[in-house]
Amino acid sequence: KWEKVEFSDRKDELGHMALNFNEMNSRLKSMFDTQEQFVANASHELKTPLAVIKSYVRLMERQGKTNPDVMEESLETINYETDRMHHLIQQMLTLVSIEKGELFTFRQVALRPLLKQASKSIALAFDRTITFEMTEQDITIVGDEEKLKQLVYILLDNAQKYSEKAIRLSLKKTETDAVIEVKDYGEGLSKQDQQAIFDRFYRVDKARARETGGTGLGLTIAKAIVDQHEGRIEVDSTLGEGTTFRIFLPL
Ligand code: ADP
Repeated sequence: KWEKVEFSDRKDELGHMALNFNEMNSRLKSMFDTQEQFVANASHELKTPLAVIKSYVRLMERQGKTNPDVMEESLETINYETDRMHHLIQQMLTLVSIEKGELFTFRQVALRPLLKQASKSIALAFDRTITFEMTEQDITIVGDEEKLKQLVYILLDNAQKYSEKAIRLSLKKTETDAVIEVKDYGEGLSKQDQQAIFDRFYRVDKARARETGGTGLGLTIAKAIVDQHEGRIEVDSTLGEGTTFRIFLPL
């Protein structure tokens, strides 16, 4: 039960304690609500591929022995859906571990070579052009190199998924932060979607996301990595024109 205690309007020590207790109580409640929501969403997301698998197993039982085409199609779908479930579970475990700050090793990280490498990998893997802009001097921050790479991969991968034109990656700094920008000239996001995209499992177009293999966890993981670096991530987008993600990491 999450009932509040009384006395919180009293000016004495008891009132003070009651106030503290109530605040702690509501913070705990919201933590439990978030966890509950996560489990509910995760179960829902896993149920869909599982239902598809089950229906193809049934189909194989009925027609597989006599119809090789049915057999082939069923196995293909089951293979695809199990890969999807595997990817989803992997992403969920990654998110939980990053949110807990597990396995982070903070040391000096030079951002220029990191961005160069990430953009090269994505450009090669998806045969895309990524233009790279940055200041003369390299920028070094204290961070976890692998996690930062993962963060840049997520943003570049989204940019190549949701746009056809060249992607722009840039690095600069302000007085207090290193600023990484990933800009695409793709489909863009509505104001409403911009507010929700960092939420767990949020996808703008669920049906399409299923085809592209999207889980709606990529940007949640990206934000969790930024949070562990005490930075912030912003999105700036216009429907039909493109999207810019901007990451600020303290110097
Ligand atoms: P997903 O695995 O589905 O890509 P993300 O958390 O990475 O999940 O992104 C959430 C949603 O935000 C995506 O489903 C997509 O609709 C939208 N989105 C993300 N990046 C972009 C982008 N660069 N341009 C347009 N839409 C984007």
